[in-house]
Amino acid sequence: MLDKLEANYMKYLVVNAPNFPLSNSSILIEPVDALTIATWIQHNHNDVSFIDLDRFGLDAINDLAANYKVALVVFDYLIALYSSEGVNHLGSLFSALAKRAEYILFVGRIATYFPYEVLDKFPEVYGCIIGEPEVVLADLFKYKDLRLLKNNPQIITRESKLDGSKLFSNNKGINIYDLFPKFGPIANRKLCQFDKYIDVHSIIASRGCSGRCKFCSTGGYLGNWKAASPELVLSEIKHLINLGTHKIIFLDDNFSNDQNRITKICEMIIQEKIDITWGCLCRIIDLNEDIIQQMHKAGCRWIHFGIEHDQQTRLKLGKNFSDEDAIRIIQFAQKIGVRIRTSWILDLLEATANSVKNTFELAKIISSYEIKLHFLALRPGSKYYDQVKFPKSIFNNNNVNEIFIHKGSPFNTSSKELELSIVNQFEKFKLEMCDIGYQWVPDARFWDKFNNREALPNEKFFSTSIMRYGLGWVR
Ligand code: SF4
Repeated sequence: MLDKLEANYMKYLVVNAPNFPLSNSSILIEPVDALTIATWIQHNHNDVSFIDLDRFGLDAINDLAANYKVALVVFDYLIALYSSEGVNHLGSLFSALAKRAEYILFVGRIATYFPYEVLDKFPEVYGCIIGEPEVVLADLFKYKDLRLLKNNPQIITRESKLDGSKLFSNNKGINIYDLFPKFGPIANRKLCQFDKYIDVHSIIASRGCSGRCKFCSTGGYLGNWKAASPELVLSEIKHLINLGTHKIIFLDDNFSNDQNRITKICEMIIQEKIDITWGCLCRIIDLNEDIIQQMHKAGCRWIHFGIEHDQQTRLKLGKNFSDEDAIRIIQFAQKIGVRIRTSWILDLLEATANSVKNTFELAKIISSYEIKLHFLALRPGSKYYDQVKFPKSIFNNNNVNEIFIHKGSPFNTSSKELELSIVNQFEKFKLEMCDIGYQWVPDARFWDKFNNREALPNEKFFSTSIMRYGLGWVR
């Protein structure tokens, strides 16, 4: 029974759920999304503990205290690292947690899009949070009443089960960064074992996107783009520097939405002579040579661009840039010393044998230092997901395989011709790229060797697997 207990000044636990198998420690950065939730709880005067079970394994739960009031389990929230197998191991996590926490709340995309299924399958889960938990918990802290767990329309519990009308109305329009104190860290890394991760550390300084690319769930899940002020970004950078890091990756889905903001952030880094190298994920349409030059001057050494597919198909997705724009921007950036990672989706729903061929050709012409090849993941919240009318039951293994990003086989096998084309072209591409000096990354273990040595600035990698951040970033 929920009591009248105050929601503030309580013991909370934030758990970053383990992947399965556990993510390789050679690529692992502290989970900044789960840490942000813990920090937000801490800002509201609560006693909060944080544990990253993806780094330390499920057994680490045995070291936790046994008297938490509320545990928030974060799975597939802002960082899309999970594999479908991770879902199959949630049951053991919830059972172990139930001995330590009175109320378990589930956070992330599975919680948002499949709350009823989660509640049916896992009796230990009290509720599923729809959308961004920082916004949802704000009410709880504001009114200081734990009973709001039951009444909040964005926390789906068994009691609210029949009211599905509020589902997916996920905080659109609220800038979560306004909730944080002006100059405290957005994610307090002192809550985690900071030295147990790789040498590049992450910041998420904006959320959402003004774009609506058909395969992408960012806009559907997080709404329109909203961002931390440049001043708050600077304070976050300084927080990381004080902890001893000089390499930062901005994991915002779209760092480049507002060019004036980029300019301001760069100016502040330059003026304050902040000694960092950094990387970010941007759109081709947002950048030009002048901005890239300024970003480089401020320490930017890496940019990710989603090129996705050939021009004709890309335009159908809502990505409005030409091949010429991509080639010009990327070649300029690489020439002045900014490493580029391009990402591609081979089996888009609009793909044809011919478009796949053009896509590989374009990837070769662009020749970014890092090439990430994807097979389509049908992410809930995307236009594709609605278009395909994907079966609602995700605990069916066949379905769950298709909704996570790091998967090893084509989704779109609509025609034998297309499937064959992808497989054949892919093998040919692999041979050709290796011939011209690229290293093929078969899986995450490949990155182990970079625990002992830095990558050279001109080392080139390509993969369908997870790729490490922070390699070859030379000041
Ligand atoms: S793919 Fe990138 S640009 Fe397109 S909607 Fe998603 S975040 Fe925005």
